[in-house]
Amino acid sequence: MEKECFDGIEVMQGDITKLKVDAIVNAANNSLLGGGGVDGAIHRAAGPELLAECRKIGGCPTGQARITKGYNLSAKWVIHTVGPVYSGKPDDAKLLSLCYQNSLELAVDNKIGSIAFPAISCGVYGYPINKACKIAVDTTCNFLKQDRFINKVIFILFSSENYNVYEDYIKSLFKN
Ligand code: ADP
Repeated sequence: MEKECFDGIEVMQGDITKLKVDAIVNAANNSLLGGGGVDGAIHRAAGPELLAECRKIGGCPTGQARITKGYNLSAKWVIHTVGPVYSGKPDDAKLLSLCYQNSLELAVDNKIGSIAFPAISCGVYGYPINKACKIAVDTTCNFLKQDRFINKVIFILFSSENYNVYEDYIKSLFKN
């Protein structure tokens, strides 16, 4: 893995709803009508207009992404993507990778320069953090190598355990 793709990547621990970036990514469900975890936190912080806009979209298939405004959030945009429920089958990895790929593509289409991701699928959807972290970082790195419009990607983890997994994985890529 080349160093250049890491220049724009940052890992931090905290609450995604507080970030001042162009777009935050929501780990949504197929209905896009809100839920628990990071989805609930984003809807609470953005206010009811977010739900009203999501209702008009009418859902989102797993692995795809949709964009709305950020309303009361500091972020101008919310990119809603639907991660897979972890099943242990090969499709899980494909779908999770698509979430990152499609979110980043949507960001570029909307001239978004900075974007923050939570650990998609790693809460209620049960994706093991080590596996999900590798998919998140590898997919993002490959994307950034080809498309330099996005200048900052933040991976924001709620727990210190998950934060350490990301830190360790990124450090391990530099060792070779
Ligand atoms: P999923 O249904 O895709 O598994 P969850 O919301 O249950 O989504 O969890 C995804 C990840 O987001 C989990 O690791 C959880 O700890 C984390 N998370 C929950 N709230 C926040 C928040 N406010 N900011 C950042 N990450 C959060």
